[in-house]
Amino acid sequence: MKVADNMAVSIHYTLTNDEGEVIDSSVGNAPLMYLHGNGNIISGLEQALHGKATGEQFTVRIPAEDAYGEFMEDRLQVIAREMFEGIDVIEVGMQFHADVSEGPGVVTIVAIDGDDITIDGNHPLAGVPLTFDVEIIEVRPASPDELNHGHVHGEGCQH
Ligand code: ZN
Repeated sequence: MKVADNMAVSIHYTLTNDEGEVIDSSVGNAPLMYLHGNGNIISGLEQALHGKATGEQFTVRIPAEDAYGEFMEDRLQVIAREMFEGIDVIEVGMQFHADVSEGPGVVTIVAIDGDDITIDGNHPLAGVPLTFDVEIIEVRPASPDELNHGHVHGEGCQH
């Protein structure tokens, strides 16, 4: 079967950056299952998969704008240490869930200067072009339940 809208697709993938470092991989784990055409995965990868068939393997390099977006300077923000009330140790690299301009997201502390804490609301992979090595494991029509929910149900998943 071919990848098309509203198909449940299983893939194995290995994700690398331009330096060839592996960022993420499904190999050795269960394949990634997603509902095609519903924005479940990054848009560049969804476009690359469209029309491909079970068993196909390919490599695609996706520019940042079609992956996790460009790095936005205005998502860097300096806030006062007192905003971190109740947290004993504040260190560069700590991540928090926070309400950012585009809804709930993760912010990372990127700099500390006295009581000025700089946080970054960009996705950790913002501004990074991503290369995916992909193998299509299975393509099947999604069930009515899956279409209603907008995502694929794995084994034993009844929600
Ligand atoms: Zn569901």
